[in-house]
Order: sequence, then C-alpha cells, then structure tokens
Amino acid sequence: MSNPVVVATPTDMQRWSRGHRAAGRRIALVPTMGALHAGHLELIRQAHSVGDVVVVSIFVNPLQFNRSDDFDAYPRPLDTDLDACRLAGVDAVYAPGERAMYPTGFQTHVVPGALAQHLEGEFRPGHFEGVTTVVAKLFGAVAPDVAVFGTKDYQQLAIVRRMVRDLDMGLEIVGVPTVREHDDLAMSSRNRLLTEHDRAAAVCIPQMLAALDTAVRAGQTSVSELVELGRDLLAREPRARVEYLSIVEPDTLEEMQTVGPRAVALVAAWFGSVRLIDNRELTAPADARG
Ligand code: AMP
Repeated sequence: MSNPVVVATPTDMQRWSRGHRAAGRRIALVPTMGALHAGHLELIRQAHSVGDVVVVSIFVNPLQFNRSDDFDAYPRPLDTDLDACRLAGVDAVYAPGERAMYPTGFQTHVVPGALAQHLEGEFRPGHFEGVTTVVAKLFGAVAPDVAVFGTKDYQQLAIVRRMVRDLDMGLEIVGVPTVREHDDLAMSSRNRLLTEHDRAAAVCIPQMLAALDTAVRAGQTSVSELVELGRDLLAREPRARVEYLSIVEPDTLEEMQTVGPRAVALVAAWFGSVRLIDNRELTAPADARG
C-alpha cells in the first residue's frame, strides 16, 4: 500500500482533484474529524466502491463545537489516522489547519433550515450551521462526485442531503449504516473518552433502541408510549443522563403520534462528561400501522 498524499490547503486540494477529474476519475470524499475507527473504515470501504479515487478529510471543525471543553478534549491522533488511511488504500488525506480553513476575514456561513432546528439543533446551538459550512467548504476544496456519510449522525445526513439539493451542489450523497462494538454500542471517536464504568453503562442506549424495535414489531405504535418505555429503560441506568429521546419521520424529522411505515428513534445522553448519540429505524408490521 502506498502512502496517501497529504494535502493541507484548499488550493492544493483543488489542484489534486482537477488532475484526477481531467483523467476521468470519479472522486469519492469521506469527511471526518479523525480519530478513525471501524465506522470510518466502513465509510472508506464504501467510498472505494462508488469512486475511483478516495479522499478522506480530517479536520476537527471548531465551528461545529458549541462547547470549548469538547473541542479541546476531542482526540487528534493524526499519525495513527494516516496509517489507517494508508492501510485502507486512501489516495489523499485532506488535513487542513484551522488557518487554512478559516483565515482572517472569514465570514460566510451556510445556514440550514427547519431540519436543523430540533433534536441535536436544540441542544447544540450553532452545531449544524458549523457542519453545513464546513461540509460546503470541503465540497468546494475536494469537488467530489460522491460523498459518504454515516447514518450514525442521522440528522446531519438529512441536513447535508437537503443542502446538496437546495444549493444545487450536484454530487451524490451515500449513507452508510452504523458500525457497532461487540455489545452494540455505536462506534464513536468519543467512546475512548468514556471511563470504564461509563463505557459499560453506555450499552443501555443500544439496548433501549432494540427494546423499542421489539415493541414496535410486537404491534406498539403509540409514539408517546414508546418514548415512555425508552425513558423508563434509560432511567434504570443511573450513569445515563438523557437529553432527548424522540421518534420522528425519517425524511422530515418531524414528530409523529403513531409509528407509520417508517420511523426513526433518535437519542442523546450523557455519560459523565461525554455526550453520545445513537438512532435506530423502527418498522411497524404491516397490519399494525396507524
Ligand atoms: P466524525 O469523525 O465523528 O465527524 O464522523 C465522520 C463520519 O463518520 C460521519 O459521516 C459519521 O456519521 C460517520 N460515522 C461516525 N461513527 C460511525 C459509525 N459507528 N458507523 C458508521 N459511520 C460512522
């Protein structure tokens, strides 16, 4: 495996991409904040299947952090990440510094709409504006034909899809199912910040989501009763502090009263100083749909 090219500025990134496009290659981008884990590697694997060359961006984006302690604590193991990219056959790593991304005078932001206003948007003010702004910039620098995102960040994926449509960005967005640990906890760069006890406790999240799925499959369609069930289950774990648990329509992310043909449960909870999110699509049996 050869080392990926490491690119540090938007102009160098644009030059690299122009060369590949001129040679007729399809460019696939995997945007990340680094601290790569098996979830990211799955995104890279998918990127290889939809593109001829794969770019991984690694940038811990200050604009999308609403807490400076979270930004400071965010892991940044760049050398390990570069090794992982080499082993995964990545062609280029775009790892711009903060100055290259946000030079003095930077003042233009992409503001998402209604999709960004509740759930994560409610509890992390400004987060999604930071996400759409950085993703638009990454699309501008890499000019990918296709970009690959995880459904782990369900609301983010919906907002990015909407931005691409609304702003005529003309690239394809691919969503990849969440990769999980042996006990079903969703892989996350933040998992490594959990204490041993909190790590053990965090399994209550996927267990609760599985219980909701079981309840829906058994015919429960009342969203309020499902949310109550989920909250009761999480309340049994004293280390979990729930921020929200919602069951919404998967495309609009709007609240629903009854689980329809498609629904998704989204949850955010704190374990110590670490905030985790997860989600699971719920499917009602055909004869129980309201
Ligand atoms: P992050 O580095 O956390 O910003 O994530 C970069 C990309 O990886 C996003 O599209 C995430 O949704 C995706 N991702 C994060 N965790 C997982 C996971 N466990 N499985 C699949 N994709 C993931």
